[in-house]
Amino acid sequence: MQSGIVFNIQRYSIQDGPGIRTTVFLKGCPLRCGWCHNPEGQSPLPQLMLVETRCIGCGECTVVCPLCEGAAERKPAPVLADRCKVCGRCVEACPTGARRIVGRRMSTGEVMSELLKDKVFYAESGGGVTFSGGEPLAQPEFLGDLLRACRAGGLHTAIDTCGFGSTETVVALGQLADLILFDVKLMDDVLHRRYTGVSNEQILANLSALDAVHRNLWLRVPLIPGITDTPANLEATAKLASSLHNVRRVTILPYHKTGVQKFRRLGMECVLESLEPPTQQQLNAAAAVFESAGLPVALGA
Ligand code: SF4
Ligand code: SF4
Repeated sequence: MQSGIVFNIQRYSIQDGPGIRTTVFLKGCPLRCGWCHNPEGQSPLPQLMLVETRCIGCGECTVVCPLCEGAAERKPAPVLADRCKVCGRCVEACPTGARRIVGRRMSTGEVMSELLKDKVFYAESGGGVTFSGGEPLAQPEFLGDLLRACRAGGLHTAIDTCGFGSTETVVALGQLADLILFDVKLMDDVLHRRYTGVSNEQILANLSALDAVHRNLWLRVPLIPGITDTPANLEATAKLASSLHNVRRVTILPYHKTGVQKFRRLGMECVLESLEPPTQQQLNAAAAVFESAGLPVALGA
């Protein structure tokens, strides 16, 4: 049985595929999108998070943290993402639960016992299980094991992916899932490199390869004002979607600011801190681009 690092299991999700679903968030992602709303999914390893609204400033964490040796003041130990040893001493010492470790190793069996709790809701709603992240394909053996276990248990499965990885892996794992939620962010490779840290060349090749073998693809387009919402990008994305054979839906995902607070709580830099979500008018305009290309469009939350 395989195991991997999971940072959340979200029950009763209605945004990650059809029906009522449980979404499993796997840690680790090869992209570094500035607008990421799950930055705790970027690193493949467990991380410390400080929820400042729960902190009473008692300084118990400073007393036990090896990085705070010699500190004159009792105050909240800072989250130093690049130096924290994730030893968990401060988590144990904190009286309010303000500090926690995000991500833990789970076996396929442990994850499955969570997923099977809601089997009746999946059956009644036409739902199932979605593997997200981070990037679920970044833990290929674990993801494969989970997908096979879900199939054996009669659970509908979806993979929510940025599409980055070897074509062999993407296609092999994609074929184990009933639905692929495939992110298309930027069609221009220079812009894709600038805003995500990687080229889109392999991603688009993988999308094409999946389209050749999988009958149920939903494209997901993050609408990031001033970055992905330009007419040139939306029209190029719509043209791509129209050229594929098995795209059943395009979902537009509006940027929201939940990631900004998480970046801070993880001690990570948020490069788009001042970015605001799109207006309803901007969302409608983006949807119109895909509708005019004859594509079924949904607006995500
Ligand atoms: S988890 Fe990090 S911040 Fe907390 S005590 Fe250990 S080294 Fe210090
Ligand atoms: S131990 Fe917890 S409550 Fe006390 S200062 Fe540290 S984070 Fe805040």
